[in-house]
Amino acid sequence: MRYDDSPQPSESAEPADASAPAGPAVRPWYARRSTLVVGVAALAPACLAGWVLTQVLTGAGAGAGSGSGDAARPGRHDAKAAAAPATPSEEPASAPAKGPLAGKTVVVDPGHNTGNFKHTDEIDQQVDIGTNLKECDTTGTTTNSGYMEAEFTFDVSLRLRKALEAQGAKVVLTHEGDRPWGPCIDERARIGNEAKADAVVSVHADGVSAGNRGYHVILPARVKGGDADTSPIVGPSRTLGERIASNFARTTGSDPANYLGSGTGLVVRDDLGGLNLSTRPKVFIECGNMRDAKDAAQLTSPEWRQKAAQGIADGIVAFLGG
Ligand code: ZN
Repeated sequence: MRYDDSPQPSESAEPADASAPAGPAVRPWYARRSTLVVGVAALAPACLAGWVLTQVLTGAGAGAGSGSGDAARPGRHDAKAAAAPATPSEEPASAPAKGPLAGKTVVVDPGHNTGNFKHTDEIDQQVDIGTNLKECDTTGTTTNSGYMEAEFTFDVSLRLRKALEAQGAKVVLTHEGDRPWGPCIDERARIGNEAKADAVVSVHADGVSAGNRGYHVILPARVKGGDADTSPIVGPSRTLGERIASNFARTTGSDPANYLGSGTGLVVRDDLGGLNLSTRPKVFIECGNMRDAKDAAQLTSPEWRQKAAQGIADGIVAFLGG
């Protein structure tokens, strides 16, 4: 979440976290703007106060975040590719991948970054998403117990990569969890474009009021402006999103979101840089609501996250003709 500019009532409704830890303390309260005011009064680290002020001034949620790409550290993927030539003999390094996704490239975008909340100046910088300017990235949300959306998205993305590679795909992550912040949303989109991805999925979880439950897939609206022109991808992205939604529902047993999308589990948006700047079929998936206790119990479960990753992978296989 947080790429969502809409109000997030759950956050203001949330009780102050009395257990705000002292050490890595920041964790529990960084995402609670409204309770931050209280928290800061109690804890009062000057630097945090500055950050809070920034948050207040920039408006709740400063939700830029379409959380889309990261300049795919070329090195990372190159490392894997380079490993093959390094062992030229024996194993036929050139053996073509097998499986329904052989020859396909999928870009997986883990939304946000666990370090974003420590780098608010950087992630608040404006980037051009074609239709307008928007924040580079956002912090993402957390469960009430402090499990970060960025932890969730990265974990699911790793599982998803494994599942896709098992089907023969070449998989590129927009970041590998080793960057201090970001990448910015325009960079996240660029990674998918430059990889000439056959499909791109940005993994997220929402942060709205308790009682709002379920998953939804976000599809690109038709937009045109600056570097943004989604007309070629609107159709295929919808198909991709429908395939992912139905398979995600099947593997997780989750219902479509009960708070938007009219029960379809599908939502079209024109304000996400990660979608607006994409030239490849791309969707976001909000796997559940981290602020709802029942959804959070699922999102924090490794077993459930595996089901979630499998559902997304199955949807991509279905989309790519597997
Ligand atoms: Zn998010």
